[in-house]
Amino acid sequence: MKVYNFNAGPAMLPAQVMELAQKEFCNYRGTNCGILELSHRGSQFSEVNERAERNIRELMNISDDYAVCFIQGGASLQFTMVPMNLMLPGGFAEYADTGTWASKAIKEAKLFGEVKVIASSKETKYDKIPEIRHWKPSKDASYLHITSNNTIYGTQYHSFPEVEVPLIADMSSDIMSREIDVNQFGLIYAGAQKNLGPSGVVLVIIRKDLAQRTGQKVPTMLRYSTYIEEHSLYNTPPTFGIYMLALVTDWIKEKGGISVIEEINDAKSEALYECISSSDFYRCPAEPSSRSKMNVVFRLPTEELEEKFVKEAAAQGMTGLKGHRSAGGIRASIYNAMPLSGVETLIDFMNEFEKKNS
Ligand SMILES: *Cc1c(COP(=O)(O)O)cnc(C)c1O
Repeated sequence: MKVYNFNAGPAMLPAQVMELAQKEFCNYRGTNCGILELSHRGSQFSEVNERAERNIRELMNISDDYAVCFIQGGASLQFTMVPMNLMLPGGFAEYADTGTWASKAIKEAKLFGEVKVIASSKETKYDKIPEIRHWKPSKDASYLHITSNNTIYGTQYHSFPEVEVPLIADMSSDIMSREIDVNQFGLIYAGAQKNLGPSGVVLVIIRKDLAQRTGQKVPTMLRYSTYIEEHSLYNTPPTFGIYMLALVTDWIKEKGGISVIEEINDAKSEALYECISSSDFYRCPAEPSSRSKMNVVFRLPTEELEEKFVKEAAAQGMTGLKGHRSAGGIRASIYNAMPLSGVETLIDFMNEFEKKNS
């Protein structure tokens, strides 16, 4: 049976990438060494590392003012590294609280200085991105931090605040899903396991001048400048993760780039939201203007029906549809690797399930 994996992360990867990785796992391009057995200083891995960076620069149109780094520790370590490196001495940082990950980032930042939450949708169970025109960002903040896509609550920024201070974005769950202008940001970070590859590597895109803010007491492994100066090869990097990133970005290039991927993502999410809004059975808790094109969250009339839905969907080859434990309900994560056919199969199932159970 064909299985469609709707997991939120680690999430499905393109079949073509998985097959190539399987082949090269044991014998990387005729070396008779597996990809995991190659020295990170050798010529083969250097090519992989450079290709991953080159692909990312090309796909996202990144200028030389920015460095592309591969760092371990998950997006969660970036919650710490961002304030540790970028909070100005005696300064404060501004954050938007739009979900669980945003609040975790806020918690870490408080260890390094004052945090001002200038926008929040906590009171309404994170059902939206607070309207940006009502934000009052300060010119004196060390930076402003946002979470571009809220994986758990299914909300997403459809435009970004324009501020004078560096804008920092956690893009873990929508990186490379749509075209963005990197120049609007001081720093972008994204754990790979949603849209880019396996867990274990985080993509960090940082405007180089910002790395000069780091104080003297910040340890070597936690300084952005270490990764910039050594091309992410100061110590042994997560070679497999970087290799997978190279393959996934090769795949995006082959598809025609991010604009093509974005069109497919638009079609997938529009079809799914249309199915939800045209029914009295399904209900989406996220406000229409803030809905995510990556994580589509919805509820059924009762929790019993939700449980039944998840079980029956799994029996028909659609896995990973249970919502996050803190939000409940159903969540369909439809990242870049999810084909339109997967979403169409889900919609057919939803229509059928509604008929039988309403
Ligand atoms: C998954 C996720 C994280 C956490 O990533 P880890 O790699 O597990 O630390 C952080 N932010 C967002 C938006 C996420 O989706």
